[in-house]
Amino acid sequence: MKILNSLTSRDGTGKISIQLQDNSVIESVLLVDQTGRTTACLSSQVGCAQGCTFCQTGNLGLKRNLIVQEITGQFDLLKSAFNKDITNIVYMGMGEPLHNIDNVLESIKIFTNPKTYNIFLRRITISTSGVISAFPKLLLSKPYPGLAFSLITANRKLREQIIPKTPSLDKIKESLIKYQQVTNKRIIIEIINFKGINETEDEANEIFNFLNGLNTIINLIPYNETGNNNFEAPDLEKVKIFSKHLFNLGLKVTIRHSKGQDIAGACGQLGKH
Ligand code: SF4
Repeated sequence: MKILNSLTSRDGTGKISIQLQDNSVIESVLLVDQTGRTTACLSSQVGCAQGCTFCQTGNLGLKRNLIVQEITGQFDLLKSAFNKDITNIVYMGMGEPLHNIDNVLESIKIFTNPKTYNIFLRRITISTSGVISAFPKLLLSKPYPGLAFSLITANRKLREQIIPKTPSLDKIKESLIKYQQVTNKRIIIEIINFKGINETEDEANEIFNFLNGLNTIINLIPYNETGNNNFEAPDLEKVKIFSKHLFNLGLKVTIRHSKGQDIAGACGQLGKH
């Protein structure tokens, strides 16, 4: 594995393009928040089979799963490229981590081993677009890493347009409830906001209904345009109003300003190298 390119954003986010043995290229991102906390956003696949219509990686299709050493290697390369101690890990880079669950879980074992990386398990999160077929395996991997679910919208038809290869929301909810009963862990709900698509009060009500009975925190992520599709970045004032609707319904919600936009390292932009 070798770094082909390394970029640092105005907001401090770092992104590296990595060439693998077979000449495939993946990207990994280092996020730094205001408190100085550093998070490695790792890829789990070369490309992705899910084909989410807003996502640059989805446009590439799936080439292959990453092997364990290619997952842990991204951490090492991020650390050396930006000379930072990394405290947190999210599997939210290129690929659907639950399509490569065996290698992702194996890499977590290595990351949490006190004799190697010694990263606390509570600081590791897997983000999925809803691959519930992998949940039984995930539930065998006690103790459990954090889980983030990209809901995007609770409008069934709209969600199927945006994430075409998703199981139904009813089935996903059943699985999330079961997951929570077993793990007792709060689930992060990711909602990428798109202009004119998922920013209305009705949309907030549908989300409220979907999340009813689950212990969650919502991360609202304003979309970053990639120029390769028709999705547009939302007006930030509208995102704030949408967040208020959700809050007024009693939901826990934070707005996550997507980082690394100027280096195409933000959510939905990876693979644009
Ligand atoms: S958003 Fe995630 S799951 Fe969907 S295509 Fe992109 S990388 Fe794959």
